[in-house]
Amino acid sequence: MSEKWDIYVDWNPWHGCTKVSAGCKYCYVYRQDEMYGSNVESSLVRKTAAFNLPIKHKRDKSYKIEPGKVVFTCFTSDFLLKDADEWRPECWDMIRERSDCWFYFFTKRIERFMDCVPADWGNGYENVLVGCTVENQQMADVRLPIFKSLPIKHKSIMVAPMLGPVNLEPYLDSTIEEVAVSGESGNDARPCNYDWILSVREQCISKNVPFRFHQTGAIFIKDGKTYRVKRQYQLSQAHKANIDFRIGKYFVPETVLFQWSDSDYHDSEPKK
Ligand code: SF4
Repeated sequence: MSEKWDIYVDWNPWHGCTKVSAGCKYCYVYRQDEMYGSNVESSLVRKTAAFNLPIKHKRDKSYKIEPGKVVFTCFTSDFLLKDADEWRPECWDMIRERSDCWFYFFTKRIERFMDCVPADWGNGYENVLVGCTVENQQMADVRLPIFKSLPIKHKSIMVAPMLGPVNLEPYLDSTIEEVAVSGESGNDARPCNYDWILSVREQCISKNVPFRFHQTGAIFIKDGKTYRVKRQYQLSQAHKANIDFRIGKYFVPETVLFQWSDSDYHDSEPKK
């Protein structure tokens, strides 16, 4: 599987976040900071040494991040966080400069989106994918109507951590390029029921929207039985379920994949 992940790169221009809804209760940023013994509060947002990563060069003057990569942006914070308003314009400049890469961020603050975009955003940058995260029906009904109304070229919905059954059907159509679902990780994880996942899958199939079962989470209920799934198996167990719909070989949806050519990913092919 590892070669498939070679197309992804992490870029965390800042670190730390504040909790906004039920899905944040056991936030992995807080858990990781605790695990690594950080002496800075996780809620204190600070710029990182990787802030300029997308425009950093190698000795041969080429970019450190190669063209064609999918750059997971701000995964140890929220890209639309108010505390980062002063830094974000520089990030947009870098994203604009690197139109040869895809920048993918998820947010639980979609209501801030229009306050955060650059002046030339227009209908959206072609190389920016935005995922709206919802963890339950209440948040789906608050965030997704806003999300649907926004000028964004590539939209996905992330149901994570999935805390209950969710009906996404009113929000699914061809403007949604992917729905991904995940259970919660960590020692205090709340359970995720496979029936909820299968239900979202059925909703996606009925609307012909790509669906991906990303990870089981730590407490997984299937056929009435509760399983504790170790961290290292949470992704692989989800993939083993083999229930993805219209997801391509690089774990990206067909709708996005068709715009890429395999030649962009020569380094991600299995070594002969
Ligand atoms: S928005 Fe995301 S990163 Fe921020 S506290 Fe909530 S779960 Fe954590």
